[in-house]
Amino acid sequence: MSEKEEKSLNFIEQIIEEDLKNGKNQSRVHTRFPPEPNGYLHIGHAKSICLNFGIAQKYGGTCNLRFDDTNPVKEDVEYVDSIKKDINWLGFNWNENLFFASDYFEKLYEYAVLLIKKDLAYVCQLSAEEIAAQKGTPTQPGQHSPYRNRNVQENLDLFERMRKGEFAEGSHSLRAKIDMASPNMHMRDPLLYRIKFAHHHRTGDKWCIYPMYDFAHGQSDYIEGITHSLCTLEFEVHRPLYEWFVEQIFGTDYRPRQIEFARLNLNYTVMSKRKLLQLVKEQYVSGWDDPRMPTISGLRRRGYTPTSIRNFADIIGIAKRNNVIDVALLEHSIREDLNKTALRVMAVLNPIKVTITNYPEGESEWLEAVNNPEDEAAGVRQVPFSRHLFIEQEDFMENAPKKFFRLTKGGEVRLRYAYFITCNEVVKDENGNISELLCSYDPLSKGGKSPDGRKVKGTLHWVSEPHALNAEVRLYDRLFNHESPDGDKEVNFLTHLNPNSLQVLKNCKLEPDLAKAEIEDRYQFERLGYFCLDSNSTPENLIFNRTVALRDTWAKEQKKEE
Ligand code: ATP
Ligand code: MG
Repeated sequence: MSEKEEKSLNFIEQIIEEDLKNGKNQSRVHTRFPPEPNGYLHIGHAKSICLNFGIAQKYGGTCNLRFDDTNPVKEDVEYVDSIKKDINWLGFNWNENLFFASDYFEKLYEYAVLLIKKDLAYVCQLSAEEIAAQKGTPTQPGQHSPYRNRNVQENLDLFERMRKGEFAEGSHSLRAKIDMASPNMHMRDPLLYRIKFAHHHRTGDKWCIYPMYDFAHGQSDYIEGITHSLCTLEFEVHRPLYEWFVEQIFGTDYRPRQIEFARLNLNYTVMSKRKLLQLVKEQYVSGWDDPRMPTISGLRRRGYTPTSIRNFADIIGIAKRNNVIDVALLEHSIREDLNKTALRVMAVLNPIKVTITNYPEGESEWLEAVNNPEDEAAGVRQVPFSRHLFIEQEDFMENAPKKFFRLTKGGEVRLRYAYFITCNEVVKDENGNISELLCSYDPLSKGGKSPDGRKVKGTLHWVSEPHALNAEVRLYDRLFNHESPDGDKEVNFLTHLNPNSLQVLKNCKLEPDLAKAEIEDRYQFERLGYFCLDSNSTPENLIFNRTVALRDTWAKEQKKEE
């Protein structure tokens, strides 16, 4: 599929356009993105953000940001703040439409009381294990709780006492009275409230009973006037329950319409927040924003742009069936974007010294270099050339095979934007390792242009030693070396961690123009890939992250298939 092709409507857009045509909900379009603040957002959430905020934009509607903060034990303001930052960074804005499910705790309590009064909910004193044991199986009905037939007055009294903190955690819960024989397990007297003596990041110690996610979600949608509640496929089986709640509590014509779509799965990646939290807590990575993490903050630090992530979401599209996307497609998206926008510079990651013996000591000159061949407006800059240079170790071979088109003893190459040079002598240290190459340059080949029609095969990047900046450069590989790191329940996903996912190079040399780089600035280091300045970088201690190498495996595969 080419990105240029006119996109047809996805199935959710089709539904919305149909609803608009029929004047449903007074032709309002109101979506929401409902993260639980129990971790940082990842690339899967980005898909949902682009969908929900994108739909609102497209149809002149509204998208709420609602924190589903019903489980105080796992939630934290750190996560709330990071989620807001990441959504803004992606380029979306909820304006004044910021909500928290915890803002509705009082209302939800009243709804629960209403269900009790309608004899549709009861206080149960079975333990969690006992409830599970009585739940039955999809083909076998469950058993009724012995507390199911308590009278309304008793239930009201017990529920109030639950709220007052009179009972221990796990001793009492509020359950809906629906159908223990329903083929849908979620309808078998599901839990509405449980006791938790936990401090909540917003409501403090006001509550010791907390609503279940399932009891909060649909009602929150209703309260906010959501028209299209877009969520991932696993909630499809919860939909009848959400509709039952709304029907019993509100009994109106208006109902948020829940539409499920397939979540994003990426190969070589784990996306579960629980597992990402484990990687952070057990220090397999440096934090939620480690550049190897699939989190939005990790991708940002790695050098991904908001545009590249939005384009990725666009290319993968929205569908009803689960599938696994090749992580190479994500890498392709950032290459496409940076190819257009990133300035080209020269950097040497594993330097070897080169001395141009026929270039005068102490002198230097500035040569013109193109900033971005893809973008004329990016202009040119000057790079310094002198007698002492660095090239990449791997660009020289003493005893080279025929097809080696880089520098060899007696061979000639072009230094990009500079001159043709020939290597005349190889200097070695006492261990026999090459320490320096003595070369001569052809002054008539200035700008890297052949003076007499003679050809050289190789063009190398280089940096002038007296002008060079020192830097640390971090190269990344995939965090997992298995296509489906959490695909096998029997095998711990940690066993698939790639031991070589991070390589730190401490002695890198950069052209001086990079002194002006700012955090998150992105460059193409010629021949080496795309890099960005790390958030911990300082002028005294420059750190660059490699975002991606240049070779585009995804585009290559596409070509093969064509
Ligand atoms: P958990 O439920 O384990 O905390 P979660 O990833 O579902 O994890 P939420 O905070 O509930 O986290 O997700 C917020 C929204 O993002 C939900 O609407 C959810 O459907 C959506 N979402 C989560 N993961 C993905 C994914 N991989 N692809 C698309 N949407 C996702
Ligand atoms: Mg969830």
